[in-house]
Formats: sequence, C-alpha cells, structure tokens
Amino acid sequence: MLEKVPLLEKRLDDYGDIVGADVCEQIHALAAPLQGARVLHLNATAYGGGVAELLATHVPLLRSVGIDAEWHVLRGSDEFFGVTKEVHNGLQGAPIEMTPAMRRIYLERVLHNALELENGWDYVVVHDPQPAAILHYLADRKDAFANTKWIWRCHIDLTDAQPDMWEFFRPFVEEYDASVWTMPEFVPGTLRMERIVHAPPCIDPLSVKNLDLAMPFATEITRQYGIDPHRPIVCQVSRFDPWKDPTGVIEAYRIVREHVTDAQLLLAGSMATDDPEGFRVWEETEEARAGDRDIHLLSNLHQVGAVQINAFQRISDVIVQKSLREGFGLTVSEALWKGRPVVGGRAGGIKLQIREGFDGYLVDDVESCARRIIDLLADPVGADAMGSQGKEHVRQNFLSTRELQDWLGLMGDLRA
Ligand code: UDP
Repeated sequence: MLEKVPLLEKRLDDYGDIVGADVCEQIHALAAPLQGARVLHLNATAYGGGVAELLATHVPLLRSVGIDAEWHVLRGSDEFFGVTKEVHNGLQGAPIEMTPAMRRIYLERVLHNALELENGWDYVVVHDPQPAAILHYLADRKDAFANTKWIWRCHIDLTDAQPDMWEFFRPFVEEYDASVWTMPEFVPGTLRMERIVHAPPCIDPLSVKNLDLAMPFATEITRQYGIDPHRPIVCQVSRFDPWKDPTGVIEAYRIVREHVTDAQLLLAGSMATDDPEGFRVWEETEEARAGDRDIHLLSNLHQVGAVQINAFQRISDVIVQKSLREGFGLTVSEALWKGRPVVGGRAGGIKLQIREGFDGYLVDDVESCARRIIDLLADPVGADAMGSQGKEHVRQNFLSTRELQDWLGLMGDLRA
C-alpha cells in the first residue's frame, strides 16, 4: 500500500456563512448520486507546495459529503525527486532534456508504486507528472481496475514545455479518462483526449492559514521574528524555487527602499520534501540578501507554519508573488482573502486572480514590480480598497466550495 496521509475533519456546512447556504445545498445535491464512492487522490508530497495545501482540504470535504475519499502519496527517493524536479522545470520551459537515465529512474520508481497501489477505487485522481505513468503500469491488472475512472490533474503551466519532455508524458496522460487543467491555455495542442476540463484551484477560508486572526496576535507573531510591525512590510510567501524569483524580489525591494527608506522585506518559504532545489535557491537568496538586516528570510526550519504565514500575510502592507512561471499561485488568493493587495508576476493563474488595478497589479520585470510596490505603500487607503475588492473576487471564484462543485460535477459526468 502507498503511504496514506492523515486527514483533518471538515464539515461542508461550516462554509455556509462564508459562501451562502444555497451553495452548500447545491454541493449536497451533486454528491447525492455519488454516496459511498471510493476516491483516491495521489500526489508526490504530503507537505509543502500548493497541491498538498489543496488536498488537505479537498479530501476531508469530499468525506464530509459522503464520499469515501483518501489521500495517498508516492514512495519516492532522492534520486526520483531529483529527476521529477528537472521534469517540472522542463515542463515549465527550462532547457532540460529527458535523458535515458532520467526516464529509467522515473519509470522504475513509478512501477514500484504501481505494484503497491490497492484496487477497489471508483475514481483515482493523479496529480502532476510525478505519478502520471502509474496507470500505464496497471495494464496487467486491468480487471481489478475495470470500474475505476482515472483523472489526471495537471497543476503546471505547459505553455512553453520542452516538446520532448511533454512527448514523453503525453501517451501516459492520454490513457486517462479525463484531465483537469487550471487554465485552457495550459493544455498542449497535441493532447488527444475526450474529456479535458478546466478548473482552477482554490483556498480554504477555514484552514489555519486563512482563518481570521486577531491583529494583536498577528503583530506579536511578526515581532517575535525580528520584524517591526510598525514599519512597512513587503512580503512574498513561496517555496525557494527559481521560478518564484526570490532574487528578483530582493532587487525590486532595493529599489523600493530608495523611496521608502523604512520598508522591510519578508521572504517566507517552506522546503518541500519533493523539492531538492530548495536549499540551493535558499543559499542564492541568502547571498542576494548580502547581510541586509531588513530582509528577513524565513522557512519552516524557523518554525514558520500555517499560523505564522497567516499572520505575515495579514500584517503585510503589500504582498508580492513575482513568479516568472506559475501554475496557479495559491498565495495570491490567500493574500487577497486577507484583504491585502498583491503585486504579481504576469504568469499563469496569477492572471486569473489579479484583475489589473482592482485587486493589485501584474508586473513583467523588477522595475515595474518596484514601482507598483512604491505606489501601494504611498497610498494605504487605496491599497486597503484593492484588498477588499480582492477578497470578494476570491469569495466568488477561488474558495474550496467552488472546487468541490467542479470535482463532484466531473465525477458525476464520468459515471453517466
Ligand atoms: N507555503 C507555506 N509556507 C511557506 C511557503 C509556502 O505554507 O513557507 C504555502 C503557501 O501558503 C501556499 C502553498 O504553500 O498555500 C504554495 O502554493 P502555490 O500555489 O503558491 O505555489 P506552489 O508551491 O504550489 O508552486
């Protein structure tokens, strides 16, 4: 058996006050024909990054409406995650070749995992490339999976994927019954499958990361990390990953400080178990920081968990998500939900979340990033108004209940 992730308990009806009781009723109705269905979500890591964040809420919510859902993670290895991180980068457009050795390491490990996969599922949802080939290796157990519907969920922007890298994965993906994508433009034109669905991810307003937090509490947490809560704070919350451009954020901050001399920068990023690049990028970021005491680099190694992230996002004057590539960027909705304006890189799902000039700004380079931060710091009333608009945008479009509707709808369609 693969590793089963322990789950929190969530109750759909607790979301009624936030999204409306009618939305909860619609969800119960969608779930009615699926009662008792066995659903497996399979991904690479139980901690760190957006997919783990999503599943921690989505799977318990499925259970709360009568679906027998579980979340399992692959059994990887350092070598395997080294390869899958390269794959991730190549699929996002980095010039990386899928060498024969990489193929072997990848396929061998997926095969091992396939051997451990239990049967008896009505639906299996496989997230991202790491486990994508698993279905292929179940061909000789076809009968055991005869009643299983298979869905591949791609969280990555494949617009500029290395063609050879994508061609390696395409036949594996085409074996699935459906694929789900964050945005239509992420879907490669070469993909041939009957059911291609678009459904952006969401945030959980009742997770510890997003629950309301009293300001004195947020202030005290921030202060304990050596950050002055009474001076301007600019913050980016992200894994230490080159695509999140932490050094670009530092460059932008240096320009900001020429104009707002007391501004501070906070870069908070967790180290994911499937992301071996994190420590290298951390060191590069530390180098770019060059000992500046107003630039705070924090991670889960400093006990920065969900509560701290909640506090940092809430207390910041401006949130930045200066990604060069981005699948969705949950951190953007997380910040908007807390009423903070966001300056985001014009990439992937960030474009869905930030409506230019309403919830924040989209930027293409260090200079425009700095300019927008400076403008927002100079106009706190305007910044608050943008944050409030952003919060309503998130309520309408990017809360977990919407995602639940999408998935229950798809599962129902696949049964029909
Ligand atoms: N995150 C966190 N602690 C950190 C850095 C990130 O909890 O130190 C969370 C962040 O709040 C968000 C998720 O990790 O919920 C990152 O998701 P996103 O979609 O922004 O990016 P990904 O890591 O999936 O590329």
